[in-house]
Amino acid sequence: MATTILQNGRIIDNAKKYDFTGDVLLRDGIIESISDTPIGELDCDVIDCEGCIISPGLLDIHVHFREPSNGKHEETTSSGIKSAVAGGFTTVCTMPNTTPAIDTPELITNANEEANRNGLCQVLPTACATIGRKGDEIAPIQALVEAGAIAITDDGNVVENDAMMSAVLEQCAKYNVPFMQHCQDPKTTVGGVMNEGEIQQILGYGPWPRGAEESIIERDIALNESIGASWHAQHLSSGGSVDLIRKAKAKNQPISGEASPHHLLLTDEACRDLGTMAKMNPPLRELQDINQIKEGIADGTIEILATDHAPHPMHTKDQPFANASFGIVGLDCALALYAKALIDDGVLDWSQMLAMMTNNPAALINRPSLGTLTVGDLASITVIDPKLSWTIHVDSFASTARNCPFNGWEVKGKAIATIYDGYLALEALGDRLNHCNTT
Ligand SMILES: [Zn+2]
Repeated sequence: MATTILQNGRIIDNAKKYDFTGDVLLRDGIIESISDTPIGELDCDVIDCEGCIISPGLLDIHVHFREPSNGKHEETTSSGIKSAVAGGFTTVCTMPNTTPAIDTPELITNANEEANRNGLCQVLPTACATIGRKGDEIAPIQALVEAGAIAITDDGNVVENDAMMSAVLEQCAKYNVPFMQHCQDPKTTVGGVMNEGEIQQILGYGPWPRGAEESIIERDIALNESIGASWHAQHLSSGGSVDLIRKAKAKNQPISGEASPHHLLLTDEACRDLGTMAKMNPPLRELQDINQIKEGIADGTIEILATDHAPHPMHTKDQPFANASFGIVGLDCALALYAKALIDDGVLDWSQMLAMMTNNPAALINRPSLGTLTVGDLASITVIDPKLSWTIHVDSFASTARNCPFNGWEVKGKAIATIYDGYLALEALGDRLNHCNTT
């Protein structure tokens, strides 16, 4: 980027307690100044940010880019990155349930090299807790962390065995890396494909009770009490889970949880209305669960928003419900969906919501510098137009996958510029970008 001013925007940085209207000056991609008075720099490009938010780059700690993939390509690292950039994200954490699973330091090194080749968005890989995510043999957690694993998880599978879980938590505590749990008791979800309840009984699909999630959270809290690892619950679906996390946090356990767009906006009725496009793991629940998750967000129990971006080829969704794949893509449209669920509903304001997408997840993965704007650093900034109305069209997603139940939804709020490492990775600025006359 040439010298550029982001002019007259609402600068929100929760880590630094900024929320004011002002300018940000970038020179050679580096943040040179952040000011609440106009910066009178001449001979530079100007991005008119009036009415827009200037935020630290958005961070999503839970995405699936499916590489290595063993020849199947529902997404690639490259297309996943494009989807992230289109959605305003400058950092994403990839899950290790790939083929092969990321359970060796060499695979972490390869993932890092592959992911960060194009320089459009930072990709931080997570690594397995157990070899092959099978739960039988602990992965070399120290070596994985030293190779660059940002978190440890068997996502897609829970670590089921209690003794194994304790061993994993002890290693995570020792090497200061967060553990992310896919909370699903396999014993109570055999054949389960949707929320256990009235709609499930009408449809006649296999039930997936809330207790499958809650029992794992309860067990892990108990196991972790004497260990004290940083423990994180992925994609919360049940209202009861929020209560468990709230109580553990009240006892000062280092525990956190994430909420996903679909668990905030859709109920199990979508399984009837949208078919397999509403088949999720964990499943969509009921309105009461949504309300309890929102209460948890409002009172700070749940501090992180994450998409669980899960690309699948359409032929795996075009199946009888019991056989279809679980999950949806989310990076392209997540920001507007969070705004719909949380801001339009009066749960949070923009500043509070952006904390859940910047400094809060950055703190969880021990990278606080990612969630804040720092003079002297290469700029990773998202410019958001909170009033921009648009319609979600899956066919225009940068992701190569199309499995998204929000197609056709009218939403508001969009990233119009994504700047990563000083480079303008997304430019949807229209008249707002005014190039300097002299360059
Ligand atoms: Zn999961």
